[in-house]
Amino acid sequence: MKKIKIAVDGHSSCGKSTLAKQIAKHFGFTYIDTGAMYRTIALYAMRNDMIAPDDTINQEALQANIGNIKVSFLKNGHATLDGEDVENQIRTLEVSSKVSKIAALKFVREAMVDLQRQMAQNESVVMDGRDIGTVVFPDAELKIFVTADDEVRAKRRYDELTAKGEEVTLEAVLANLRERDLLDTTREESPLRKAADAILLDNSFMTREEQFEVAKNFVERTMQE
Ligand code: C5P
Repeated sequence: MKKIKIAVDGHSSCGKSTLAKQIAKHFGFTYIDTGAMYRTIALYAMRNDMIAPDDTINQEALQANIGNIKVSFLKNGHATLDGEDVENQIRTLEVSSKVSKIAALKFVREAMVDLQRQMAQNESVVMDGRDIGTVVFPDAELKIFVTADDEVRAKRRYDELTAKGEEVTLEAVLANLRERDLLDTTREESPLRKAADAILLDNSFMTREEQFEVAKNFVERTMQE
């Protein structure tokens, strides 16, 4: 079977990772969650006091250490930081509120993009993020750009966080995702945008299953090409 790369990009909390995981499971491809990688770097910076209360980042300190921070994934998909499973810690609203500033730094992006390309060297991958179809793999065989109405996205994320016991309000979740969308689309380095050859998938009124059916057809078509 030929080796393919699938890029799933889109706005925050729009169900990209759910879709990417479904595709990976169904077709036996490797799933790589690039957002988790930026979240892990944000967690590292927070733990090492590199982010001031006013959100200023100590860029010199982070840059001096970036080459030594080990970001990886366990077989179950959990992200690790220097070998420690940090899957729960990186999903908090606190990390979500810092991550887009960390992800806007050029040296952080360069390090993560290198790692992402290495991870895809030997196998078929489904990678989700913001710049996969535009920067990481402009030559991806299939590019899907996912979006949904922001209030629908906020409600979904709110339900997820409260189910995990996090105490958040719907307003705070909506404000966070609007802020991340703004930072992600307006930053200088690899801003979030739809690649010209990406297929737009608006899932505001779709269930997970319906979304997967649509995407499965795209993948099957791509594999036949
Ligand atoms: O996908 P997720 O919401 O977990 O990503 C967290 C943050 O990481 C995003 O808000 C974005 O700022 C950043 N990100 C990025 N490029 C990627 C993936 C995520 O800038 N490829």
